Amino acid sequence: MTALDTIKEMDRATVLHPFTHAKDFAAGVGDCYVVETGSGVRIRGADGSQLIDGFGGLYCVNVGYGRSEVAEAISEQVHKLAYFHSYAGHTTEALATLSDRLVKMAPGRMSKVFYGLSGSDANETQAKLVWYYNNLRGKPKKKKILSRERGYHGCSVISGSMTGMSFYHDYMDLPLPIVRHAGVPHHYWGAHKGESEEAFSKRRAAELDAQIEAEGPDTVGAFIAEPVLGTGGLTPPSAGYWDAIQPVLKKHDVLLIADEVICGFGRIGTPFGSHRFNIEPDLVTCAKGLTSAYVPMSAAIIGERVWEVVRDGADKVGAFSHGYTYSGHPLGAAAANVCLDIVEREDLAGNAERVGGYLLEQLRKAVGDYELVGEVRGIGMLAAVEFVADRQAKRRFDPALKVGARLSAEARRRGLITRAMPHGDILGFAPPLVLTPGDADEIVAIVKASVDTVVDQLT
Ligand code: PLP
Repeated sequence: MTALDTIKEMDRATVLHPFTHAKDFAAGVGDCYVVETGSGVRIRGADGSQLIDGFGGLYCVNVGYGRSEVAEAISEQVHKLAYFHSYAGHTTEALATLSDRLVKMAPGRMSKVFYGLSGSDANETQAKLVWYYNNLRGKPKKKKILSRERGYHGCSVISGSMTGMSFYHDYMDLPLPIVRHAGVPHHYWGAHKGESEEAFSKRRAAELDAQIEAEGPDTVGAFIAEPVLGTGGLTPPSAGYWDAIQPVLKKHDVLLIADEVICGFGRIGTPFGSHRFNIEPDLVTCAKGLTSAYVPMSAAIIGERVWEVVRDGADKVGAFSHGYTYSGHPLGAAAANVCLDIVEREDLAGNAERVGGYLLEQLRKAVGDYELVGEVRGIGMLAAVEFVADRQAKRRFDPALKVGARLSAEARRRGLITRAMPHGDILGFAPPLVLTPGDADEIVAIVKASVDTVVDQLT
């Protein structure tokens, strides 16, 4: 047996992989791909194969793979101080510097940063902050959290409840009843015939208003949403959505949590997604692009409105009793500082806008007119091609045909990683922000060839 086969055998015998068919994988069915190295927008497998990563890992390797500058910053920090906790006022220069930067660059009027290790735990922190805030304000009933259908906010108990797709809940006793879901602003699927984007956005806002009224405004603590819907379909909001939604939240004294885990740090062409849509959040969730995934780190950024209550409440409750061993880890802070330097210095938000726009345009030209393509959409360095069985009737394929999965498998065979998004037959693209027009051309050529192959099989 080769060394590579041994690795795969050990893995199949011992690892419970996320989002993988547990029984088939353990029995040797399906691929086990051993990733060995990465550089720029490409990864290389231990079998010598090379793939263009059209999804930046999981929309997280924003500065690209193999950046020595990041490795050196992490190494320097390890040699100086690999770890100390941030409880009881302990800090490092890297952490204080990062926090000062985040508070200044984040949307809204931000004041403090609480650190974790994943987007899920940061959203867990946000929920606890909402409850803490309303308890301290003497509003103990104002606890429900509204998120959106098809929103994705993580997989822990509360963040998994916020996630608005049932297959993340099934057999896991989720969602918890304290979380409710509202409609999503996806014009293609949600609008009535002839309804403009603006009218549809206003309807969504009116529905949200009615939902809060029905729940009882004194029971609704927060609304959480991604500026651009990510895992639920890579869907930019319908025009005017955020302008219509925010007054409703203000009217009912409902906090707004912007989940910037995907959009943050340049992916949609602005420092944060909120900047693009004039969103003024009370709380901001970040992860992924914060460290470009070189080291796990997440941040719950806390606006003045919540901070002032937390600060004043300390006289009554004492210490803020929430934290993780690894909150504010020095290696995460060192990696984040250098990744943010790179994003700024190389204008990766600008590149996301320019090259992402080019990628979208080329995808439209290559496959936009196919009978089985319902919508090609995107913003910044996010793009999606959604496939439908009937374009005129807007009818989805039978899920058993697994059209999205077949397309992404075909692209993979041809050397490109795309993601078959979990809701519908959608090929998703979220490459590293360092993508060049030449890389985009390669991606589009593979996508076109893959679509041609799968369309032939289907028709
Ligand atoms: N929020 C959003 C918008 C995400 O896209 C994700 C992950 O994809 C999360 C939260 C959860 O992050 P993590 O997987 O790091 O827990």
